[in-house]
Amino acid sequence: MRASFHPDYRVDLGPAHPYPMGKYPLLCQMLLERGLLSAAQIMTPVEAPLEMLARVHEAAYLSDLEHGTLTSAAVRRLGMPWSARIWRRSRLACYGTYLGALAALEDGLAANLAGGTHHAFAGHGEGFCVLNDVAVAIRALQSDGRAHRFLVVDLDVHQGNGTATLFAGDPDVYTLSVHGANNYPAVKARSTLDVALPDGTGDEAYLAALGPALQTALDDCPADLVFYLAGVDVMAADRYGRFSLTRAGLAARERLVLQTVRSAGLAMVITLAGGYAATPHATADLHTEVFAAAAELAGDRPT
Ligand SMILES: [Zn+2]
Repeated sequence: MRASFHPDYRVDLGPAHPYPMGKYPLLCQMLLERGLLSAAQIMTPVEAPLEMLARVHEAAYLSDLEHGTLTSAAVRRLGMPWSARIWRRSRLACYGTYLGALAALEDGLAANLAGGTHHAFAGHGEGFCVLNDVAVAIRALQSDGRAHRFLVVDLDVHQGNGTATLFAGDPDVYTLSVHGANNYPAVKARSTLDVALPDGTGDEAYLAALGPALQTALDDCPADLVFYLAGVDVMAADRYGRFSLTRAGLAARERLVLQTVRSAGLAMVITLAGGYAATPHATADLHTEVFAAAAELAGDRPT
C-alpha cells in the first residue's frame, strides 16, 4: 500500500508541549521495520499550493499563517505556537492526504502518515489542527474532476467539528463521526451522521455502535472515495480520550472498517488523526494497527 510521508511532518515543539510530534517518523520507521510498508511505496509530498488551500480556507486566515500574524487568541485556540515550520508541515500534510487520495483511487487503498486534522475550520484552527487536509483533498479532487462524492469516516474520539462544518449542507460529502459525547469539542457541530458515545465506552459497545453506523453511511452515500480518520485516542490509557478500548478492540475496529469499506468495493485513504498515549513511540505503535489490518486484508506483505 502506498503512503505519503515527509520527515518534516515532525516539528519539534519542545518537551513541554502535549502534542506527540515524534509519532510521525516513528510510525514510518515501524511500518518499514515490520514489513507493512516498503521504501518504494513512500510518496513524498510537496507543500500544498495556496490556491489549493484557498478552496477551503479563508484568505485572511491563510495570510495570517503565511506571515505569522495570527493573534495570540488564535494561537491559544490552535493549541500550538505558530512557526514557519508548522505552516510548512501543515501544507505538506494536506498534500500528503491529496497524494494518498490519488493513490487510493488507483490502487483501492492508500494512506497518509499524517493528516486527519479535523478541528480546522475555514477561518481558524483549533485543537492542534491548522489546516483541514481532508477538506483540502476533497476540494482538489472535485476541482480535478477525479472524484465527486465522498464519505468521511471519522473515528477519532473527538468530534470532527471542522470537517462537519465545512461540509454542512453539501450533498456530495457525507460526514460520519463516532466520538465521545463528553470529549472535546464541548459544543459539537452537526455531521451527516453523529454517533456520540458515553465515557468509558469499551470494545463491545464501541464496535456494536460502529458497525451499523458505518453500514448506514455506506448505504446512504454512493462515494467515489472514503477518507478514514483512524484516530487512536479511543484507547483506555489515552490522555485526552474518555473511551476504554483495548488493543484488541482497536485491532478489531481497524479490521471492521477496512473489511466493510473494501467489501463494498470503495476506495479508501487512511489518515492518522489523534492519539495521546504515554509516549510518541506508544502512540505510533497504536497507529500501526490499521496498517496491519490492511496487510491482513490484502493477504500479503509489500514486496
Ligand atoms: Zn482526537
